Amino acid sequence: MKVLSVVGNRPQFIKSGPLSVALRDRGIDEVVVHTGQHYDRELSQVFFDELELRPPAYRLDLKTPDIGRMQTKVAEVVGAERPDWVLVYGDTNSTLAGARAAGDTPVAHVEAGLRSGDLTMPEEHSRIEVDRLASLLLCPDERSRRILGEEGVAGRAEVVGDVMADANFKLAPIARERSPILAALELEPGGYAVATVHREANVRPERLARILEGLGQIEGPVILPAHPRTASVARSRGLTPGHVRMIQPLGYLDFAALASQARVILTDSGGLQKEAYWYGVPCVTLRPSTEWKDTVE
Ligand code: UDP
Repeated sequence: MKVLSVVGNRPQFIKSGPLSVALRDRGIDEVVVHTGQHYDRELSQVFFDELELRPPAYRLDLKTPDIGRMQTKVAEVVGAERPDWVLVYGDTNSTLAGARAAGDTPVAHVEAGLRSGDLTMPEEHSRIEVDRLASLLLCPDERSRRILGEEGVAGRAEVVGDVMADANFKLAPIARERSPILAALELEPGGYAVATVHREANVRPERLARILEGLGQIEGPVILPAHPRTASVARSRGLTPGHVRMIQPLGYLDFAALASQARVILTDSGGLQKEAYWYGVPCVTLRPSTEWKDTVE
């Protein structure tokens, strides 16, 4: 059997790690396509190096979030490889482009059935459409499967657990042992806050300014590994983050070491909300809604 996996963004590289190993262990041939939606080294290559992911067979290097352009190129690869399945992860533009590009090839969707209920988020539209296109819906939990049932989604839904948990449980202990990040930033375990902000609604200048102002009121150091689009808005608008330390995005291991020993995590990331819970670190979710409802409940 041949599976064509479509990845393109930071969280997808992380999610693909445990699954690639599982596919290999079962003798399933996996061909990886990297759309190039994320292309900065800190958001892409570092994960291939650190998580020992096999280099993608196809690097489309598109450097764009444009769904149509990604779809056209991925469809060419589907035509050339003729896989049995197209595998897509999560809820990004690369996910949607991959699912649309599959054509007659069945689609498997990892992290199916998640809903924030907030249609102002582009990710929510991706989730709904990809779940409608998928033949196999790989749900992280019972709630997601129930949601798909209520929506009358046609594909076969299976609760399979959470691939980010698989990656995290394996790598976070190694990260804490090996990463020099706390010493490099002169931090003590439990003595600082970690923040990440990159959702479209939160990087609009007025909103970002208010978030940074709020972060600036937190006692003690606040470390913000800033996504390029966050950094670029902050820079161009001269949003000075007070005592918030804006640094480059980190690789998975350094970030896991940093986040897991924080006093508190403040984030609009989907994945990091869950990781905070697994670390036992309180999480303030910087959004009015979340698709990971269990982290709030
Ligand atoms: N992450 C990372 N380095 C950072 C910030 C986050 O490795 O500087 C990891 C984080 O631990 C989590 C993933 O990136 O595993 C979350 O990705 P992101 O927030 O980009 O996407 P989302 O989960 O919101 O789709």
